[in-house]
Amino acid sequence: MSFQILSLDQGTTSSRAILFDESGAIKGISQKELSLFYPHKGWVEQDARDIVEDTLNCGREVALKGNNIKTIGITNQRETTIVWNKDTGEPVYNAIVWQDRRTAETCKRLKAEGHEKLITEKTGLIIDPYFSATKIAWILDNVDGAREEAEKGILLFGTVDCFLLWHLTDGREHATDITNASRTLLYNIQNCEWDEDLLKLFNIPKTMLPKVKINTAHFGETYKIIDGETLPITGMAGDQQSALVGQACFEKGMVKSTYGTGCFALINTGKDIPSSENGLVTTIAYDIGQGPKYAVEGSIFVAGAAIQWLRDNLGLFGEAPESETLALSVEDSNEVMFVPAFTGLGAPYWDPGAKAAILNLTRETTKAHISRAALEAQAYQTYDLIHAMQQDTGLDIKAIRADGGLVANSFMCQTLADFVQAQIDIPEISESTALGAAYLAGLGAGLYKDEKDIADRWKLEKSFVPQISKENVEKGLRQWHDAVGRVRSK
Ligand code: ADP
Repeated sequence: MSFQILSLDQGTTSSRAILFDESGAIKGISQKELSLFYPHKGWVEQDARDIVEDTLNCGREVALKGNNIKTIGITNQRETTIVWNKDTGEPVYNAIVWQDRRTAETCKRLKAEGHEKLITEKTGLIIDPYFSATKIAWILDNVDGAREEAEKGILLFGTVDCFLLWHLTDGREHATDITNASRTLLYNIQNCEWDEDLLKLFNIPKTMLPKVKINTAHFGETYKIIDGETLPITGMAGDQQSALVGQACFEKGMVKSTYGTGCFALINTGKDIPSSENGLVTTIAYDIGQGPKYAVEGSIFVAGAAIQWLRDNLGLFGEAPESETLALSVEDSNEVMFVPAFTGLGAPYWDPGAKAAILNLTRETTKAHISRAALEAQAYQTYDLIHAMQQDTGLDIKAIRADGGLVANSFMCQTLADFVQAQIDIPEISESTALGAAYLAGLGAGLYKDEKDIADRWKLEKSFVPQISKENVEKGLRQWHDAVGRVRSK
């Protein structure tokens, strides 16, 4: 009898549950928008209780339509930090979201003290508020009594996956997976252990930390999804790594790039742990029982969010897809450059002080040029990442598997192929993130055999191949880099 797998996909803007059948086809979706709070400039928080409630409700709703659900996979927004009381399950503070910049000064100090080299060697990351460690320390230092309770072993830390698991299992399991652990700044990706030196440096008690498991481990059992029935949780990965698995990028040199609110590109580097000289981070891609595989990752904070901004803040169009019609209504952007550095610049520049700008405006500029420039910016930003990846890994990138809401925009995909000079492949199932967690859970439960079993299920929907020559791309790239130079803070 055919089986189904329930994937819980807890993202920054929404919590979702998707039911997949064994071929990877979608059989049901339930989704709930999640609020973000901005209590001060640069602070971004969420209610951790809503994260659990919404995800559980979506899971239950979709499971009602299910048939022979065998197991659950979890994937999640990464780095977002929750500290809770192990007796009550109550968070001691809101979830501090990955976008939060409140620890920028701490990071600056740690850099000035010369800690970055060691941290990068151990974790593959850089010192930036984006990652969890300084957020945990902030909670311990700013919530009344928190540090004392943490020292006594009463408080637990977890990223969103871990907090969900803890609640799904009624507090029985305090565990995370190796990919989520690798985004905390506390996990040594060379020996795959929490790192004592880093715990000391960030002043975080080890007793707070979850047990780290491979992505296809048995994470626990839950009664909370289907009344009276228990389901195992046998797959877990952070969203970008999960998408890498969902896109079946199992070979060294394969790249996936996701275009949602932000853009995240990962290249599988196999067993190699290259250290980036070009502003990217090295991270654990997955471990499905044969030891860890690694990836080099580039994160751009604003991708689809730029389209949202044109829609909501400037009112240039009513719906995101209209950006494509507008872009195609003009021959080119008339040299307009849109650098969407609304929350600073991520990889490869890492400039939190950069501000967004629309440049080269003239009297002829219309909303069509600006919309086109916003879509072209996705291609330019990706060019920067892919160029850095090629430099860091020495691998030649000829194809990219792309997904996320923005790939519905064919103009964006074609521009991407043109500027990156690579083939852009769009899969039939665009929900790569949720699908990856389902595949991991299926592997963990023994429903799938191996990587090949998954790779055989990946189906191409369409490809975009470069249509303009490298020479013609270069002028645009020069203008882009000039525009980036003008918005940088340093
Ligand atoms: P997330 O998972 O980060 O919430 P999604 O993958 O759902 O994001 O993608 C949503 C983003 O994609 C939004 O920012 C939206 O503006 C953008 N988007 C969706 N469809 C289109 C389109 N046809 N053209 C341009 N942008 C789009």
